[in-house]
Amino acid sequence: MIVQGRRESAFNSLPRLVRWLLVPLCYYAGAKLGVAVAAMPEGVSILWPPNSVLLTAMLLGRSRDIPVIAALGIAAEVAADLPTFSLPEALVFGVANALEATVTCLLLKAWHFDPRLATLADLRKFLIAGPLIGATLAAALGAAVYSQYRGGQTSYFEFLRVWLMGDAMGLLIFTPLLLSLALGRDGPREHATTNRLSLTDGMVVLLAVVLLGMLVLQRGATLWGMHVAPVLVIPCVVYLAARFDLRVVSASVAVAGVAIAYATAHDRQPFGDLPPHEASMRAQEFILSMSLLGLGLAALLGQLKARRNELRLANERLDQVNRSLELRVAERTAQLDESNRQLQRLAMTDSLTGLANRRAFFAAAHSAVEIALRHERPLALMMIDIDHFKSINDAHGHAAGDCVLQHMAATLRALVRSTDTLARYGGEEFVLLAPETGLDSALALARRMGDALRDHPMWVEAGPITVTASFGVTALGGPDDDIDRLIKRADEALYECKAAGRDRAIAAAPPESRMPLPSKAP
Ligand code: GH3
Ligand code: MG
Ligand code: MG
Repeated sequence: MIVQGRRESAFNSLPRLVRWLLVPLCYYAGAKLGVAVAAMPEGVSILWPPNSVLLTAMLLGRSRDIPVIAALGIAAEVAADLPTFSLPEALVFGVANALEATVTCLLLKAWHFDPRLATLADLRKFLIAGPLIGATLAAALGAAVYSQYRGGQTSYFEFLRVWLMGDAMGLLIFTPLLLSLALGRDGPREHATTNRLSLTDGMVVLLAVVLLGMLVLQRGATLWGMHVAPVLVIPCVVYLAARFDLRVVSASVAVAGVAIAYATAHDRQPFGDLPPHEASMRAQEFILSMSLLGLGLAALLGQLKARRNELRLANERLDQVNRSLELRVAERTAQLDESNRQLQRLAMTDSLTGLANRRAFFAAAHSAVEIALRHERPLALMMIDIDHFKSINDAHGHAAGDCVLQHMAATLRALVRSTDTLARYGGEEFVLLAPETGLDSALALARRMGDALRDHPMWVEAGPITVTASFGVTALGGPDDDIDRLIKRADEALYECKAAGRDRAIAAAPPESRMPLPSKAP
């Protein structure tokens, strides 16, 4: 994708007038560089840089600016060519070059080319649209003019080949460089540490500079009697591609390409003593291989790095999601545990009085009886029943009856130990299980409870209601005793209380008593 929307290029952020001035100026400079550095004796350049200026400006600019950029290119070409060529020739050359950039740009935009050239797919699109299709079109037109007006010994196809290769090399070498310079560095500089210059980097760059310097400065350069071949630069380019991003690689490829083109065009014979057209062919083949290798490797490695980063980011996001999920699961589990505890409390509690209910009573009673039997410890059980509760309900209403039940529960609870289990057994009947309590103590407790009820009447609108209750008390006997027998004995004692006139406590001793015999209630 063209990325103007995502990231404004340095080129686009310039004022429009500056852009319109910069395009022809850079084009003019590129044309002069092409002629000065790489023009062969026939006049065709091994390397033609200015079209990359047009293409870069078109790729980074808005689509509606393309005709303006093309026109500026033609004007700059005419200005650059006029000293050497006639106006019609210069115009055709200008049109050929503008056509090359326009066709390449339109194709790339249609193919959703990303000018960051960060992937092999983008490099492939660029190679097909620019050096292949765009340059061939321009070469077909330009070579026709050359062979028409300046043909001499050189055939149309020879002109076509040199023009095509020159334009292709120019686009290939300079477009990635100009694009990367105009777009700047993309994304955070996470690899800044790996990109810091090392001693080896310095040595490789130095070696490349020395090699290129020798090729540019010496004719048939030799070192210790050995021929210095341009191919020696390739390992340096490969090294730089492996170490750095596309900006560095495209800059190195451009420098090396210009140096080799200059050496070839200025008879330094870097490829040996060859006729000019063969020398230019060797130079172009070499520049082509070197740039394809460097740019391809840089794109491939860039792509791998980007994938690795995506993967790392995806992993980090996954970890984050996992952590928040675990946190939520822990929260939910805690909530669930709390709800369970509440449910359990509710299931074991009598909602009216807040006392333990019958189920909770039996759960506690079984183990308390077992422990008391195993350790031969005393344990008392008391059945408590409100006297004439039906009459209270009848006289004051069911709601007042409920209040009496709550009053009863509160009064009894105030008198028992925290280790005792006081429960609502059902209706207006309560039960108390008192570990470490003998029959006498339990009977005394029952009497204190009866006193407390009598002493603290419950107040309703109509006045005080004095509640009395009957207490059937028993205690744990021998090893055969159990909770059912305890309840049965306490119930019998309670029945005795009712029969004896209510509002009293009666103790029923266990059959084989290990404890002091119970005293009869008054
Ligand atoms: P006794 O002295 O013989 O125990 O007489 P009583 O009237 O207390 O006993 P009875 O078993 O005849 O009556 C118990 C009454 O308790 C009957 C029932 O309507 C009432 N009752 C049971 N559960 C509740 C309750 O939750 N709230 C109210 N207000 N009354 C209840
Ligand atoms: Mg009753
Ligand atoms: Mg009853």
